[in-house]
Amino acid sequence: MKIWQCSVCKYIHKGNFPPDKCPICNVGAKKFKEIHEIPTTVKKSNNKQKDKKSQTLEINNFEKIKSLLIKHHAHPVAVHTPNGLLPVSVILWLLAWIFDSQLLAKAAFINQIFVLISLPFVILTGVLEWQKKYNSAMTMMFKIKIITAALTSVACLISTVWFLVDPEILLSSGAWGLMLINIIMLAGAGMAGHIGGKLVFKD
Ligand SMILES: [Zn+2]
Repeated sequence: MKIWQCSVCKYIHKGNFPPDKCPICNVGAKKFKEIHEIPTTVKKSNNKQKDKKSQTLEINNFEKIKSLLIKHHAHPVAVHTPNGLLPVSVILWLLAWIFDSQLLAKAAFINQIFVLISLPFVILTGVLEWQKKYNSAMTMMFKIKIITAALTSVACLISTVWFLVDPEILLSSGAWGLMLINIIMLAGAGMAGHIGGKLVFKD
C-alpha cells in the first residue's frame, strides 16, 4: 500500500492510488504526491530536543497522550455531550417560555452549564485533531468549522449568563433575544457537526 499526501492541505491518504478528490480541500488526484513516511510532529520535537533527554521524554509522553486522544477519536466522542444537551436546552427554554415555567427555565439553564463545562475539552481535542491529522490546514471547510464552533460557544455563554443575571428574562421581551441566541447556537452546532461528519466519513 502506498501513502499519498495532498500538496494543498497535507491530507494523508493510504491506498494504491490517490483519491479522485481530496476530501478536505477538494483538489483533484493530480495534487497528490506519493510519500514514503507519514510525517509526525513527534519526530520534529525529537530532533529539536536531542541534547535534553528528560525534556524529550516529557514531550514524548505529551505527544503520546495527544496521539492516543486522536487515535481513540476523543473529539467526536467529546462532542456528543454538548450536541446531546444543546437541543434539549433549546426545547426546555421554549417550553419554559410557552408555559411560563421557571422550573423548566432552570432545567434549560443547568443543561447549558453542562454544555459550557464540556466545551473546553471539545475545543481542545478538536484543535489537536486539526493540527495532527490535517496539519492545521486553513481551507474553507476548516474556517467555517472554527467560526461555527466559536459562534456556538459564545451563544451558549451569553444565553447562560443572561439567565444568571436576569432569571425573569422569559417574562420580558428579552425572551425573544434569548430564543434568537439559542437558535444561532443550535445552527452553529449543527453546521460544525455537519462538517465534522463530512471529515470523518469522507463523503
Ligand atoms: Zn487537500
